[in-house]
Amino acid sequence: MANGLSSIPALFRACCDRGSLFPFEALRKLLGLEDEEVLQLFGPLPSRWGKSELPEELSVQDFIHSYRRWCPRCLSKQAYQQGYWDLKLVTLCTRHQVWLQDRCPQCGAKQGWNGSSLLYCACGYCLSDGSAEPAGGLPLGLTKALLPESAATAGPDVGLPAGVQLSRIQWQRLVCRLGQFSSGVQPSRPGQLARLDDLGTARTIIENAAAVFHEWPTRLVRLLEDIQAAAGPSISLKTSFGVLYRLLYVELDDPAYQFLRDCFEDHLKTNWWGVVCRRNRRLKPSTLEKQARMTKKQACQATGIRPSVLQHLAQQELLPIQDVPLPSGRKARTFRQADVAAAAEVVQGAGNLSELALHANIAERRIRDLVILGVLKPIISRVGGSSWLFSADDFRQMLVPTDVLETGDRPMVALASLLKSGRLAREEGGSLIAAILAQEVSAFTESGGMVPVGQVVLGQEEVVCWRKNWRQQHGAPLSIPEAAIELGLKQEVVYHLIRRGLLEAKHVSSGGKVDQQAIQDFREKYVALADLAREKRTSPRHLMSSIVAQPVSGPEVDGGRQYFFRRSEVLACHVVDR
Ligand SMILES: [Zn+2]
Ligand SMILES: [Zn+2]
Repeated sequence: MANGLSSIPALFRACCDRGSLFPFEALRKLLGLEDEEVLQLFGPLPSRWGKSELPEELSVQDFIHSYRRWCPRCLSKQAYQQGYWDLKLVTLCTRHQVWLQDRCPQCGAKQGWNGSSLLYCACGYCLSDGSAEPAGGLPLGLTKALLPESAATAGPDVGLPAGVQLSRIQWQRLVCRLGQFSSGVQPSRPGQLARLDDLGTARTIIENAAAVFHEWPTRLVRLLEDIQAAAGPSISLKTSFGVLYRLLYVELDDPAYQFLRDCFEDHLKTNWWGVVCRRNRRLKPSTLEKQARMTKKQACQATGIRPSVLQHLAQQELLPIQDVPLPSGRKARTFRQADVAAAAEVVQGAGNLSELALHANIAERRIRDLVILGVLKPIISRVGGSSWLFSADDFRQMLVPTDVLETGDRPMVALASLLKSGRLAREEGGSLIAAILAQEVSAFTESGGMVPVGQVVLGQEEVVCWRKNWRQQHGAPLSIPEAAIELGLKQEVVYHLIRRGLLEAKHVSSGGKVDQQAIQDFREKYVALADLAREKRTSPRHLMSSIVAQPVSGPEVDGGRQYFFRRSEVLACHVVDR
């Protein structure tokens, strides 16, 4: 050492003796350093030597103070300590692409500042002799980003998304925090790190951080997945992502780190099982809009689908449910946005059974008949009817084009009165409506145009023709017991009517068959006293005593069990009330 002084404390004392100047100024005078040369020095002075001027935004805490790190290869070229080796986060020599050292390879001692030599350990080992361990490309690129321009050398860069630019200080902050995360390891608090002056700790931090940026953003996404999986299912961001969530939105809230939050939020959109509360002010509005999943309430609000309908859609598997089991054992039910949007399209303009009946202007049971006939295909069909849901298409289908009704020549009949008359067989009514909907039977109204099917008027002749056809296609002959059920009569009454020739039957000797046509003919021609009384809301006895028409069959006519009248006579005479 200079002027025979054997150690730095001795040098310090010598400098202090030289008057009122700061010791560093005294030393500088002794060494005859120019201003320019002083500027090339890097790092803080020990406080008692004088005031330090640090480059960029570095602070004294960013430097190691008690021990030295070194690159054996640099030392073998020139035996001086490079300033940036003292930065806590610098763990490798970018020039030689090797890890720095902080212990004597021979005796393991750390090297302080108080010895008289930079090159020799107290044990006599020459620090420039040690073999150096090559550093990987990833930590190398990251270390370059942390170094002042003058110290950085050529080498690989950190692979960040295009357009992302961080200052050295921003890099340093990011590396310190992010370097505490690795696959399977989450710090309990990602605050300021202790022990960064330890080379091993610092090296782990650099390696972890470099790994996160490798193949951007694959590794970060994998880290998110790992953390999410380790946390277990939850619908809370805080529970799922813990400290990392806080880190991204609180500790690293600087706009420069937005690229990290973008990556995180992209991950949420596709891979998170929870739903972010829409009042969350940390996430971007666009992320809240485009979440992968929504709660039932959110789905109803967003689409206007009624909660009960949403429930039915889910039950009918028209809307897949994503159940997130919670640690409490309960399940959080969520839906995929895309599924909800598709379901909303399906139920747009849909309605239930009574709404459709009202819209079509026909009875609900006719709507059910149309479902049985396959004309209507409800989105949701449940026994009981009230929870059926019909699509907008079904609603449109219930409106039929009509021609303008021309008064005069031909007899017409309103569909409504035809359906109410009870003269159509069970399935005939539904089939007639289906035929009108399919425009196989012409429909009329006074003003023409599209009207609800229940309001149309039909040509009587056309209806007769249609029924004839329909019966031929659908009316298989019935046995006597079947005919009795169809007519709502006792079997012996039916046999009596056949014997009397009022109901036409075939093959009577071999049990007997009744054509649908014969049943319709009988219904159109005759009416039972009991039915008539029900229609008039009176008792058969009272009706019998007040009716003017003569029965065609009955106890006092031909020994039959029931009285029957001709419809035409009943209609002509009406019932006279006494
Ligand atoms: Zn080196
Ligand atoms: Zn040693």
